[in-house]
Amino acid sequence: MKLEGIHHITAITGDAPRNVDFYARVLGLRLVKKTVNQDDPTVYHLFYGDEHGDPGLDLTFFEYPGVAPGRPGAGMVHRIVWRVASPEAIDFWESRLGTEGVDARREDDRLNFSDPEGLDHELRVDASGDEPLTADHVEVPREHALQGFDGVRAYTDDPDRSTALLEEALGFERRGEGWESRGQHRGSFYVYDAAPDQRGLQGAGSVHHVAWASSMDEHEEWRERVLRAGARPTPVIDRFYFRSIYFREPSGVLFEIATIGPGFSADEDPEHLGERLSLPPAFEHLRDQVEKTLTPLPDTTRWRPARVSGSNPAK
Ligand code: ZN
Repeated sequence: MKLEGIHHITAITGDAPRNVDFYARVLGLRLVKKTVNQDDPTVYHLFYGDEHGDPGLDLTFFEYPGVAPGRPGAGMVHRIVWRVASPEAIDFWESRLGTEGVDARREDDRLNFSDPEGLDHELRVDASGDEPLTADHVEVPREHALQGFDGVRAYTDDPDRSTALLEEALGFERRGEGWESRGQHRGSFYVYDAAPDQRGLQGAGSVHHVAWASSMDEHEEWRERVLRAGARPTPVIDRFYFRSIYFREPSGVLFEIATIGPGFSADEDPEHLGERLSLPPAFEHLRDQVEKTLTPLPDTTRWRPARVSGSNPAK
């Protein structure tokens, strides 16, 4: 039984319109779901993905309008590492981010930059051989598109503390400077860096949690394993697009194990993912109220290639 690498990563934004502009326009991801925080339906939960909203490229943001900037510290993910196809793709992003006024620092075939709220990203030429997960965008040629997560880097005071849980319970394997979680189809790395002296703060531009991908069938069993390893998982929570358990790994990073499926087309036509506000059934009767309260967002369809007419005659 193996986890299939990273399912999704969830971070925090204080400025949802600017967040949509950066991830859906500048980085060329597809806004695959626009919904509300299930614990607070007055604010967004935004999901960016590849064309199909597949686990492996799914970056999500909780919106807390105007929240103060966060700061990564011990027990927090501080960098998201993405795959691209080639050194030419790195050239493309160096130039595109430069044009956007984003300070992108290149080191060989890696490019490091931050989003407008300080969330740190790195692009790397892919060496995994996993299927590329890409989104279509009017200004990003497909061969240069982001291809999914390569891994995350987290801060810890003591990496040894987490070794038993990562290796024995979660089946991570030692690779290079950290670990790899690899299943039948995909894998991602997990690496620690020494934590800065300053305590971390959750806030705008900080990562809230990282979710690892499980098949539907094995989900309960993962929970049992986590429990046996001494961590304290939540009960299985139905997030509608997937099922989840949450727990802190011993270094303090909030982990989730989420199921591959049912997926984002559970409540929307795959052609029109993310175009209208999706509400969990329990909130549907509040739609009028909720829509009035939410921050207006840019229309992302203008960054999407036009669909060939006649390709979808039934709609
Ligand atoms: Zn999550």
